[in-house]
Amino acid sequence: MIYLDNNGTTFLDPKVFEAMEPILKGEMGNPSSIHRYGQKSRASLAKATKEVAAFFGVQTHEVVFTSGATEALNMVIRSLPKGAHIITSSLEHPAVMEPLKFTGCEVSYLDPYPGKGAITLSQIEEALCSSTRAIVVMAANNETGVKTDLEPIAAFAQNKGLVLIVDGVAVLGKEKWPIPKGVSAACFSGHKIHGPTGIGVAIIRRSMKVHPLIFGGPQQHGMRGGTENLPGIVGFAKALTLFNESEKDVAALRDYLEEGLLARLSGVVINGRGEPRLCNTCNCAFEGVEGDALLMQLDLAGVAVSLGSACSSGSIEPSRVLLNMGINSQIARNSIRISLSRFTTREEIERALQIIVQVVTHLRTVIL
Ligand code: PLP
Repeated sequence: MIYLDNNGTTFLDPKVFEAMEPILKGEMGNPSSIHRYGQKSRASLAKATKEVAAFFGVQTHEVVFTSGATEALNMVIRSLPKGAHIITSSLEHPAVMEPLKFTGCEVSYLDPYPGKGAITLSQIEEALCSSTRAIVVMAANNETGVKTDLEPIAAFAQNKGLVLIVDGVAVLGKEKWPIPKGVSAACFSGHKIHGPTGIGVAIIRRSMKVHPLIFGGPQQHGMRGGTENLPGIVGFAKALTLFNESEKDVAALRDYLEEGLLARLSGVVINGRGEPRLCNTCNCAFEGVEGDALLMQLDLAGVAVSLGSACSSGSIEPSRVLLNMGINSQIARNSIRISLSRFTTREEIERALQIIVQVVTHLRTVIL
């Protein structure tokens, strides 16, 4: 099976598993316990927290571990002041869209300019009003890979004293991404970076006032009650240390795939092509072939891809993200997402290319 759904989730890097194994096998204690087991766990927790803080260039008290990016985003978004005006995009993940509904805020959902895959600073400037207090935006889109030009947005937010929350899930591990100055909070998930599932992090700069979402014990400076997920935290910290400079190699494979599809098949549309994109993502449509039928046939033929985002794969509605980019609904319906990882090989892409060409050609003859 060729796994090309790495924006959905990634497999656990064996080196991450190695780091977690002793804890999973019983070298454990509650980091809050006084005895030596507890002290050992506390030391591992402190070390991993330091590594994560150093990776993001922040202080350890600005790091809050959660169960994933969804929880992290809920925590920071639900801390926004009631009644304020918030600017976001219509391309955000449900982990942003849903908590925004419960903030008691007035929210402007900006569509990108037609054909573009991200909103821009000038659109945000236009939407700004006297009650605007925050901007919530993704660093890159998980379906198309199109990146938001965040630096100027962050500088603007800082200038105007606005809170800026960034969903950094899609960008982490794909390329170097120092958190831009002016970002108040950024959220990430472990399982998207060859780390474990069930761990995420909210990086909350001192400038932002955030209330805990989960109340309980005094863990994590009172920001998130409950015994810390030590194997997850150690695994997450390890996964961050394993990023390499593979961005160019992954981009070369993705480009090879796209060029191969365009050369070997007619009626291929690559959504977001020409925009600044993550190195690993190809969102494409094949004229005359519904995305869900293609996905199922590819699965049978040994290639795992996804329809839009993994979270909406159960639905046969065309992707909201593609529709809000101004892509016509038939192309949106025909679209699939192919996402690579740093472990994807040239042989896998060559084979996937052959299979996709065969399956699309077959489906077109059956359907036409
Ligand atoms: N944000 C983006 C862009 C995502 O792709 C995802 C997951 O697919 C999330 C947030 C939520 O992450 P998790 O499901 O790990 O909590």
